[in-house]
Amino acid sequence: LMGQMMAMPLLISSLIKHAARHAGETEIVSKRVEGDVHRYNWAQAEVRARQLAQALNRLGCRPGDRVGTLAWNGYRHLEIYYGAAGSGLVCHTVNPRLFPEQIAWIVNDARDRVLCFDLNLLPLVEKLAPEMPSIQHFICMTDAAHMPSTTSLPGLLCFETLLDAEDGHYVWPEFDENTACSLCYTSGTTGNPKGALYSHRSTLLHTYASALPDALDCSARDVILPVVPMFHVNAWGLPYSCAMIGCKLVMPGPFLDGQSLYELFETERVTFSAGVPTVWLGLISYVKANGLKFSSFKRTVIGGSACPPALMKTLQDDFGVEVIHAWGMTELSPIGTLSRLSAKQLGLPKEAQQRLLEKQGKAIFGIDMAIADDDGRALPWDGEAFGNLLVRGHWVIDQYYGLTASPLVALDGEPGWFPTGDVATIDADGFMQITDRSKDVIKSGGEWISSIELENIAMAHPDVQEAAVIACTHPKWDERPLLVVTRKPGAALTREAMLEFFEGRIAKWQIPDDVVFVEEIPHTATGKIQKLQLRQRFKDYRLP
Ligand code: ADP
Repeated sequence: LMGQMMAMPLLISSLIKHAARHAGETEIVSKRVEGDVHRYNWAQAEVRARQLAQALNRLGCRPGDRVGTLAWNGYRHLEIYYGAAGSGLVCHTVNPRLFPEQIAWIVNDARDRVLCFDLNLLPLVEKLAPEMPSIQHFICMTDAAHMPSTTSLPGLLCFETLLDAEDGHYVWPEFDENTACSLCYTSGTTGNPKGALYSHRSTLLHTYASALPDALDCSARDVILPVVPMFHVNAWGLPYSCAMIGCKLVMPGPFLDGQSLYELFETERVTFSAGVPTVWLGLISYVKANGLKFSSFKRTVIGGSACPPALMKTLQDDFGVEVIHAWGMTELSPIGTLSRLSAKQLGLPKEAQQRLLEKQGKAIFGIDMAIADDDGRALPWDGEAFGNLLVRGHWVIDQYYGLTASPLVALDGEPGWFPTGDVATIDADGFMQITDRSKDVIKSGGEWISSIELENIAMAHPDVQEAAVIACTHPKWDERPLLVVTRKPGAALTREAMLEFFEGRIAKWQIPDDVVFVEEIPHTATGKIQKLQLRQRFKDYRLP
């Protein structure tokens, strides 16, 4: 017997239609690369997204065509999210911070037909254009007054001129909810980047689930500023969640330094934000150095790499900002788990609560997870056993874009699980904790040492700005941990004092063998510590 309910497809256009109708006057504020601040609202955004859909259609784009973006967080980028996906095209966000060759590789692999880019990225696009033969139209995301007077780009189009030519009388089309809507590539720390092609359905379900009170807990009463870029897994879905809940959205453009962010948080009365740990280190340094406080900022989600407990503590104790630790990945669009407490856990002593909050957390409904040994056998949820983290769910990829081999594996003989490449424990209450990425774990004499655990301890030292632990080859133990540290400005931390700090905080045999102090720790294009580069730099390092 079939249910008798309406079968309305879950489409991205429905999000912006809803926002325009039910939160039409709610503001969207963007810092523009042109240097000023732009303000408008969801109703105006929807009209412009329709005009963009018309313009893309007029340029010859057909359903399924990929529209590439090289852009920061801003309202025109948001319009491409909705205008492209809403009209059946695929919004393909490309990270401008990648190496130029990687950008061209990704654009070619996706065979993008159109490339929209922010004005300050013109030199990069001009340089790469000859290597991106699939692009038929280059669109500069600015107005006529700011268009470059000369450019090597053939037939360069102006975003605002294209929109001005359209009347906006466009009806969002209906189609199968399993149609592709957006494309993101993994950063390719091992081998070439791989594309994750999301569907309207997967995105809508992710949007519902991620806004729930025990997930990000977003509502129409929030003012949300995603620091996480719109090219880093769709800013963790916030451009969609903000439309669904109809809240004020603030976008910082390329201005992510401590001062610019702090000023925007204050002037726009931001309540909620999201970003990788490194952005918060920068913001906190600025706020502390200037004796400032936040007046409206209440909660932030931190993920992308492990949030050091010391960072969580500073945000919570010194600034009253609640930290929601989350785990996810490109292949999950991206949210998999979040650390939130249940009524039962609120009855635990504060320290035990804190230890849970420091974990990567519980799977949200829609995601199923497991840990397995190397033979694909499920391991117990006892908080001790650690193994390969496997996931499946409504917003987990089934396949990589353009690749035929299935990435999926079996768990206890049952096929259909995605191997995340992370090593984790899961406790009896379902709290998952990442011990490492499998390629970062340190294998010392047959035992595993978690680089994240060592980094978290180092980060708790008051003189440490940032810490990374990598494996160095060792004649007797195969691998031993080397700690790489940047000191806080003016701090005079010594090797001995740093190593002593580990005493009593971890088993003796896990304490790093040595410490090197560096001016700067390298970061990936998404702001994570670049361990590959550190490993290369210290590959011949002689441990004492
Ligand atoms: P990449 O880092 O390759 O660009 P993703 O952004 O998709 O790709 O990164 C996903 C990976 O980031 C996860 O597999 C995991 O290793 C790491 N990660 C994400 N969130 C966390 C977290 N909260 N704690 C530890 N690791 C995390």
